[in-house]
Amino acid sequence: MTAKLNLLGLPWPALTDFFSELGQPQYRAKQLMEWIYQHNVSDFRQMTNFPLTLRQTLEEKAIIGAGEVVARQEASDGTIKLAIRFCDDRIVECVILHYHHGVTLCLSSQVGCKMGCAFCASGLDGFVANLTAAEIVEQIWHANRALSSQSLRVGHLVYMGMGEPLDNYHNVIDSIRFANNPAAFNIGMRNITLSTSGLVPGIKQLAQENLPLTLSISLHAPVDYLRDQIMPINRRYPLPQLMEAVRDYVKTTRRRVTFEYILLAGFNDQLIHAEKLASLLAGILANVNVIPYNEVPGLPWRAPSDKQVRLFVRLLEDRGINVTVRRELGPEIEAACGQLRRRLQRGE
Ligand code: SAH
Ligand code: SF4
Repeated sequence: MTAKLNLLGLPWPALTDFFSELGQPQYRAKQLMEWIYQHNVSDFRQMTNFPLTLRQTLEEKAIIGAGEVVARQEASDGTIKLAIRFCDDRIVECVILHYHHGVTLCLSSQVGCKMGCAFCASGLDGFVANLTAAEIVEQIWHANRALSSQSLRVGHLVYMGMGEPLDNYHNVIDSIRFANNPAAFNIGMRNITLSTSGLVPGIKQLAQENLPLTLSISLHAPVDYLRDQIMPINRRYPLPQLMEAVRDYVKTTRRRVTFEYILLAGFNDQLIHAEKLASLLAGILANVNVIPYNEVPGLPWRAPSDKQVRLFVRLLEDRGINVTVRRELGPEIEAACGQLRRRLQRGE
């Protein structure tokens, strides 16, 4: 028996091919997409506008979704974290966040991460695998299913879960286009943020894609000697190269970029660092997202005091920089990247 075809995340041409091989007209493919993406249906038997024989054939030959939700945690603020297991025991997680502007899904692009940032849980166990485009968008589908009882849908995506999206470039770009497709998840490009630790060739390539998404750069230190200590990628693409790529990106896309800056107590959270950050970003069309560190068990880094966060932010504002402090959602369910999966895989 040949393996069943997973129809979730299948691009339109492949889906129409599949239906024509079954001797079915194209509009069936359109109807199927409505069932999957508008109604979140996984069971062919529920597809009541399909003839019974077609429903049976589909059941024999196809499936909807390759992953299974193996854990679901909900925090008091409504944040929901899902762990999804794909084949070969590859577990990824995504986090549903409720903001005033709607529901945001933080999704994963890889299992593990190669980048090895010193403060991050995702890199601790190294790299396991790239997710396929279908596996990336399947996270949106599971999130929509989890939200359906509240009649909500994912409206924004942030590629800030596990993995480095630009290290899985083509699958991530395909997943973005798929998520944006009105017949699929219909998520506006302007509602999509891609976060990177600073892979310069990927940033250059992304600038040419003509996608009006938001690029977010995980900066976390304003000078090379500090950034080198926490982000190994900085030794390959140091700040002068990274900043040049970002300037070019802004010039080509005319889009404002975001810089993420985690405050690690005593390491990069002093006023001198804020001052250097302000000089580094002078003249760039940018927002800065200041993130008080989310402590990771087993790692030595500590969160800054609220007072230090305020002082840091005020200095940046005094230098004319657009700053927001990222509100921490779902802290009691470890909504920071990588933590749930680690616990599941350690079998705790
Ligand atoms: N690999 C990409 C995207 C995933 S990480 C990147 O690094 O940009 C998403 C964001 O979460 C990054 O800015 C990352 O530095 C940050 N992050 C990682 N661990 C964190 C932690 N424990 N507390 C707060 N932010 C963290
Ligand atoms: Fe990877 Fe991003 Fe974590 Fe760095 S911060 S290890 S790039 S997921």
